[in-house]
Amino acid sequence: MKKFKLKAQAVKALELGKRLISLKDLEAPEAIEQAPEGWVFGLADQSGQQIGQAIVGRQNKGFAWLLDPDILLEWSSDFVTVLFEEAVMKRENLLASEDTTAFRLFNGEGDGCGGLTIDYYDHYAVINWYSRGAYQYRQWWIQVLEAWDHGIKGIYQVKRFELDDQESALDPVLGQAADQPLVIRENGVSYAVYLGQSWMTGIFLDQRSVRQFVKEQAQGLKVLNLFSYTGAFSVAAAVGQAEKTVSVDIANRSLEWTRENFCLNQLEASNDTNEIRVMDVFDYIAYAKKHKYLYDFVICDPPSFARSKKRHFSVDKDYFALAQDLFEITRPGGICLLSTNNASLMLETFRQQMTLAGANKKAQLIQQFELPEDFPTSSDPESAYLKVLVFYVP
Ligand code: SAH
Repeated sequence: MKKFKLKAQAVKALELGKRLISLKDLEAPEAIEQAPEGWVFGLADQSGQQIGQAIVGRQNKGFAWLLDPDILLEWSSDFVTVLFEEAVMKRENLLASEDTTAFRLFNGEGDGCGGLTIDYYDHYAVINWYSRGAYQYRQWWIQVLEAWDHGIKGIYQVKRFELDDQESALDPVLGQAADQPLVIRENGVSYAVYLGQSWMTGIFLDQRSVRQFVKEQAQGLKVLNLFSYTGAFSVAAAVGQAEKTVSVDIANRSLEWTRENFCLNQLEASNDTNEIRVMDVFDYIAYAKKHKYLYDFVICDPPSFARSKKRHFSVDKDYFALAQDLFEITRPGGICLLSTNNASLMLETFRQQMTLAGANKKAQLIQQFELPEDFPTSSDPESAYLKVLVFYVP
């Protein structure tokens, strides 16, 4: 296998758990710059000793991924089998659970191979491919999923790298197609997911422990859920006996889908119980402020960037002002939960910004969530993207 020398600093960073390799980490980047996607090469330290193998998969800021350096096999279908078996072993508790039937099965670099993730939805697998390099080896991953004794009925694949004109983002299902919706359970709560229809399935699996927290805290509270998508946080709150929930999302599809999720849990979705508003969050906040509405529990989980007819929102620039408004509409004695999946915003910065936004109200940070155990990360700064802060507003 062809070897390339790393700069001394890069060797150290990889030893400390970094997995993403940029061209500037290599001593002679010009020798490899043009390498094809999926090409596997050796990485050597300053003395020329091989420290691992890497796979070319150009995405965002990186050029290649270091493959699990503890597996002493050449890159092959056997390597993939070992990676998969190790990932499954880490998730034995989730696999044995009857209360939770959807979670992440393989989390890219955190599980030893960047460029793909595999989610498990009640005997169906969804593979997200983040680089063309990783996608070249799909047969190995598909084989290992098909051979898995847990019984996978169908495999869906989503391509999230740059596509040619003839390519489509969603590959046809392999095996049996899933029910539409497929009803999954998470800590005993049911949710409707639709596989193979878009990039998003209806549930963000990385928020599992946050939904559990919401369920545990919501009893008797009036809950406002902003950027509610399919209402997952609202449903968790309602199952936890919230007095009322209000879900706000601008997308038309959110109405029926949220209703469906309430319905699956034998909960009513009416304006008095679980209200669903299809509207711009910023208009809703203006309306709530004007009428002096207050909520006991405000939940806000926006996308990193959003564009509506009227506005552009970006977490970097606009979350501070949004959070100030949210602290305004939280009832004294209430809680305000602020979430972001913006990978480039570091936890410490987010915490400082949000604490400052709540300073007028003397908001106190009481709880914080990051990715759950089925989303292991590397030490690359963007790997631990989820940050959720919970404030008490006295
Ligand atoms: N909190 C959700 C996930 C949010 S996904 C959950 O836990 O499942 C982001 C959502 O924000 C999308 O559904 C999108 O329609 C919505 N959105 C984006 N901009 C918006 C705006 N200005 N007002 C209301 N909703 C918006």
